[in-house]
Amino acid sequence: MELIIGKTAGFCFGVKNAINKTYEQINNNTKNLYCLGELVHNERIVENFNKRGVTTIDEITDIPNNSNVIIRAHGVNPKVYNTAQEKNINIIDLTCPKVAKIHELAQEFANNNYYIFLIAEKNHPETIGTKGFCGEKSSIIEDLEDIPNAIECFNKSNLEKIAIIAQTTFGVQKFKIIVDEIQSKVNCKIDIKDTICNATTMRQAETEELSKSVDLMIIIGGKNSANTKRLYDISVKNCPHSILIQNKEDNDLIETLKNKFNKIGIMAGASTPEESIDEVVEYIRSIGGINEFSK
Ligand code: SF4
Repeated sequence: MELIIGKTAGFCFGVKNAINKTYEQINNNTKNLYCLGELVHNERIVENFNKRGVTTIDEITDIPNNSNVIIRAHGVNPKVYNTAQEKNINIIDLTCPKVAKIHELAQEFANNNYYIFLIAEKNHPETIGTKGFCGEKSSIIEDLEDIPNAIECFNKSNLEKIAIIAQTTFGVQKFKIIVDEIQSKVNCKIDIKDTICNATTMRQAETEELSKSVDLMIIIGGKNSANTKRLYDISVKNCPHSILIQNKEDNDLIETLKNKFNKIGIMAGASTPEESIDEVVEYIRSIGGINEFSK
């Protein structure tokens, strides 16, 4: 059996940075340390931080005055900064620089009288943060069916031009389909900025390729991680034997590996630690039959 691990599997720059800087805070013994939302969509990492004194909390309003709060890589709505200031909360801002750039871009477009179409998952924390920087004159488009309403809002806004930006982890193909549809439906100046992160683009492209060449694809990552789920969606179209697992104990992995496969591919989301990938590889090795291995 041949086993191939994707070169782009695992932590992206933004997640690595957020994790390392959180460890710095723990090692510096920062007291009253909170994280606004889970630092990464990964149970194991979040549990470890919680044990070491980082309290995960969903709302800035629930954090006691004079505490310290970590803003994770997804970034937040600008209102959070105002509330923190009012409550004298110290912000440790770990917003990924690429997300921060999108915030700047959104503000610039809003200041220059653009109506903004944010192509993104409506409930994703990054989207909620970015929407705050886009201002009132903006709409979120997650699917093709959101376009008519977004265009109606644009028409009512009395603005004359549209800017399109995207969530950093949005699906590359889906972004193109939505942009084409918008272009076919409106007749005004449209400024398109493909703000999908290249870490995402490369990971999705590698998943597409790898899933075409194997007879089992294992996608490792948190089941609440949107970017991991998207890798699974890409994979399953090419490789019907695709599974999404959180770790080596996952029942799907154990059951699936009772069958025989000639070539197995492994990919992992941006918030999956290397240990989780190594453990799955070790497990496959332990049940035998790997004679070729590449990374
Ligand atoms: S996917 Fe890209 S933008 Fe998002 S946290 Fe990672 S490096 Fe930053």
